[in-house]
Amino acid sequence: MLNMSTENNFDHLFNNSVEILTDLIGFKTISGEDNSSLIDYCDNILKKLGATSFRTYDDNKQRVNLFATLKSKSPSNKKPIILSGHTDVVPVSKGWTTDPFKATIKNDKLYGRGSCDMKGFIACTLAFAPIYSKTNLDRDIHFSFTFDEETACQGAPILIEELKKRDIKDGICIIGEPTNMKIIDAHKGCYEYTTYFKGLAGHSSTPNKGVSAVEYAARYVNKLIELREKLKERAPQNSIFDPPHSTLSIGGIFGGIAHNVIADKCHVNWETRPVVKEDAEFLNKELDKFTNEILLPEMKKIFPNSSIEKDIIGEIIGFDRDDRSEACELISSLTGDNSRQVVSFGTEAGLFQEVGISTVVCGPGSIEQAHKIDEYIVLDELKKCLRLLDGIKNKSSLN
Ligand SMILES: [Zn+2]
Repeated sequence: MLNMSTENNFDHLFNNSVEILTDLIGFKTISGEDNSSLIDYCDNILKKLGATSFRTYDDNKQRVNLFATLKSKSPSNKKPIILSGHTDVVPVSKGWTTDPFKATIKNDKLYGRGSCDMKGFIACTLAFAPIYSKTNLDRDIHFSFTFDEETACQGAPILIEELKKRDIKDGICIIGEPTNMKIIDAHKGCYEYTTYFKGLAGHSSTPNKGVSAVEYAARYVNKLIELREKLKERAPQNSIFDPPHSTLSIGGIFGGIAHNVIADKCHVNWETRPVVKEDAEFLNKELDKFTNEILLPEMKKIFPNSSIEKDIIGEIIGFDRDDRSEACELISSLTGDNSRQVVSFGTEAGLFQEVGISTVVCGPGSIEQAHKIDEYIVLDELKKCLRLLDGIKNKSSLN
């Protein structure tokens, strides 16, 4: 399948990908922090090759998405390809045996935070970009590098909004999350919320004179648990997920200061993973109804300034299986892998799919090593990814 002229060239390409990955790991791009140096680095590589690019930002202009394009040289009706990766990494905890922000190679594995999730993929695309730029491309190749995927996909929606404005709605998107180069074509959504309760503090001996934020939060949690049972009943027939229904989980309840004080503040962290969008809509509707018609009026009767506020931390929509997915078929035709799998982690895939872009999740490395101490990528995975990118080149040129 590999039609790069010699294996020598391939070694050179592979070494470049390792070098770039080493550089990328050196940028400490923990979610929520400034990632602009890494974006500058990527943009420079692509600009030197003649790519055009634009950036989109968060409100403080600290976190940046980059979208760069190597233009088609001989137009055809082939859909553009979007190679997509997130630039942020999860924080590091104690216990690393190497410096997490310095790439270290040991036993054919490259260690470092983000090595597999997912700077490995980004490094491969950047290493391959010079070859795309020299190819007589008959479709555009886009590079989409986002910020803050790990914290509920905050960057991608801003980028995709801009894509819509620029009329880039049709294409094939490969999201290089670590799947060991297997094809992932569906996952549940992941919606995270924090609900804040504000009541009225008072002495515990006169509960009728205060509004206990903790007690109202407890009733709210009960309602969530009740709705969780309803979600089970709503499980679609032939669901491809395990468990087959949408799930709901309470992550934490925080409130109160002492045994004898009525708590005026409490908050609840919770999340739901819908198998279909409608479940999330149903859940939120029922919950908001309970809040506004039952809990809040009761609280306000005693203390009019009481409040319940539901903050959306993130609503990562699910990624739906498409039996005739062009993106999956493209990967299958290049790797020979005809399997289709679902995963339990969330990605940006649903966001691209939502605007009509055929999307697949497929990338080097294993999710087993992601988010862990001593995260690594097996070097051979980078080679597999480079071969896939080479296959894409062959499918994107006349010669
Ligand atoms: Zn990831």
